[in-house]
Amino acid sequence: MSCIFCRIIAREIPAEILYENEGAVAILDVNPIHYGHALVIPKKHYKDFLEVPEEELGGMMRAVHIVAHAIVKSYALEGFNFFSNNGSIAGQSIFHFHIHITPRYANDNIRFVLQLKKYDDTTIRTTAEKIRAAIQE
Ligand SMILES: [Zn+2]
Repeated sequence: MSCIFCRIIAREIPAEILYENEGAVAILDVNPIHYGHALVIPKKHYKDFLEVPEEELGGMMRAVHIVAHAIVKSYALEGFNFFSNNGSIAGQSIFHFHIHITPRYANDNIRFVLQLKKYDDTTIRTTAEKIRAAIQE
């Protein structure tokens, strides 16, 4: 078992565990964006969000909610982000699904650099049709 998160969950290697429920564990990220940056990890090994069975998402999101409340309270935050990188092209580096929760501060200079596109009337309709069709499959 070489997955670092599986080894943390099995208590083979140490981590600062913040919270645990039937399906998920929350730990402090050891390389935080800001102090208090936490990771919520399913107890079972799934490589990314799409591999997590629907019935396990409830426990994950309850853990995110509880830990986010606690981080906001601990640091008296005005805001925070939670996010997940799925696939190496999206920045995933540990291939055991996890959700990041990180404090945010004014002028902390963390940002996506975005160039927003515009839809024309046809493209927005065909885009939605393509995704709706995939949901029906
Ligand atoms: Zn794992």
